[in-house]
Amino acid sequence: MTDEEIPVVIIGGSLVGLTTAMLLGSHGVPSLSVERHPGTAIHPRAGHFQLRTMELLRQMGLEAEVRAKSLETYSPTGGIIAVESLAGRELGTYVQELNEGVEGFSPTVRVFINQDALEPIIRKRALELGATVRNRTEAVAVDQDADGATVTLRDLDSGDERRVRTRYVVAADGNRSPMRARLGIEMHGHRELSRSITIYFRADVGELLRDRNQGVIYVHNPQLRGFFRIDRTGGNGFLVINTVGEDVTQESAIDVQAGLTEERAREFLRIAIGTGLPMEIVDVANWRAEATWAERLRAGRVFLAGDAAHVVPPNGGFGGNTGIQDAHNLAWKLAAVIKGEAGPALLDSYEAERLPLCELTVQQAYTRYATRVVPERGTDGVQPPVPDIELEIGLVMRSEVIQRVQDDDGALHLAPAAIGGRPGTRAPHLVLADGRSTLDLFGSQLVVLRPAGDGVDDWAPPGVASHVIVAEPFAETYGLSAGGATLVRPDGAIAWRSLGPAGRPEVARAVATALAT
Ligand SMILES: Cc1cc2nc3c(=O)[nH]c(=O)nc-3n(C[C@H](O)[C@H](O)[C@H](O)COP(=O)(O)OP(=O)(O)OC[C@H]3O[C@@H](n4cnc5c(N)ncnc54)[C@H](O)[C@@H]3O)c2cc1C
Repeated sequence: MTDEEIPVVIIGGSLVGLTTAMLLGSHGVPSLSVERHPGTAIHPRAGHFQLRTMELLRQMGLEAEVRAKSLETYSPTGGIIAVESLAGRELGTYVQELNEGVEGFSPTVRVFINQDALEPIIRKRALELGATVRNRTEAVAVDQDADGATVTLRDLDSGDERRVRTRYVVAADGNRSPMRARLGIEMHGHRELSRSITIYFRADVGELLRDRNQGVIYVHNPQLRGFFRIDRTGGNGFLVINTVGEDVTQESAIDVQAGLTEERAREFLRIAIGTGLPMEIVDVANWRAEATWAERLRAGRVFLAGDAAHVVPPNGGFGGNTGIQDAHNLAWKLAAVIKGEAGPALLDSYEAERLPLCELTVQQAYTRYATRVVPERGTDGVQPPVPDIELEIGLVMRSEVIQRVQDDDGALHLAPAAIGGRPGTRAPHLVLADGRSTLDLFGSQLVVLRPAGDGVDDWAPPGVASHVIVAEPFAETYGLSAGGATLVRPDGAIAWRSLGPAGRPEVARAVATALAT
């Protein structure tokens, strides 16, 4: 006997769980997210949100609200620098200006916004779209069978248990993912880089910022290494500390949590600020910096997403963004299979497409940790840095539902100018005649795009939208010849493109492959 039935149960109602719920709702599929905590994030945590995340939020009608909220806290032109201390010398610049070099590639921009400000916006949209979010509720068991899964939920206030019948489960239950552990899925990569802390504080450091308006300020001195994020008032912020002491090769250097007292936290803060200002410590959080990815993203009807699937050090701001991209890839597939529009094999493509990119992203976060926090440890086992923009909008996916590219060199990332409409990549942004972006055409269904021209066969199977694009230079940007066509998925990825003129049979076959029907 079960107490209720719902197509998808999401374990975890934080950044990635809520994004999955919102996206499923946008496809008309109800979900139930369960979350142990009484509400959304209480700490700022993630702050740096990438272009691709903003493109997804734009698709969900949230871009304006998120940008306005971001401006309440951060400058839109902030960058990432390193200092000895806020009062001391500047040591270097990692990112001059958050949006430098992105113009023309996207209809939106990167932003700094704190996770505790972003999550309620996503949650509200998810609820508007029909999702159910149940707080103070824990998923305690998942039993799978041939037809579905039964999830046992415990109300953390009353202790009552109930059973929910579902078709699929998304485990967005964080870096210690109890679900991943229950499924016996191992993590690979660089374990325990440091036992780090985050000190949330209030102190008037406005003058020390000297109009620098930075989104992230790394601190590098003989006593500690980490970074600040401080809001634009200069009064609120947090300091992450990854290592203490000068010799980062020592085991003691990576254990910042050892012997931590409020007095020691205050002393750390004073050292990083570089002068003794009145300060209030609001909270201190202990966490483990690691760079790991799950060996599998699926076990039967359960899919791992977010920190449950990959754990990164915060350097580079990849954690939440990568999880949001997991949700983007997975949600439309679950919806299409649940609605009977796609074959169940479509769900196999989630792991095939995302796992290599998760590993790449984890390695790149590790590269940023190694080079920004502990450069003395050298570059053994550290991959060369890939430009942020390639990791945001230049990723290349491969699977059975994406057309194979002839002479594929196996590249996982490309410079945006070199993408050329290749299957497996994000469909490029171009401004349409009505001022919208090509990206504004994607989201709810498969879309066929064709260049304008004589005798264009503007046809698509039922349930697939079709557009003739007059924007320049569409054919070149999408790599199409006269009479050609390209097929874009709801997650904005190119599934297929014709090598020559494409008529009904080619498009119909491409749609069938993309949906695994
Ligand atoms: C200091 C810091 C700075 C960061 N900066 C950035 C940044 O700039 N950009 C970025 O993209 N990322 C950043 N991150 C990473 C980002 O915060 C995480 O990647 C993100 O929160 C992951 O979201 P998630 O939903 O996967 O997991 P979580 O946020 O960990 O949420 C998992 C949720 O699942 C719940 N849960 C677990 N098990 C159960 C269960 N059995 N039943 C019910 N609920 C359960 C938990 O209570 C939790 O709320 C930063 C992290 C830190 C610590």
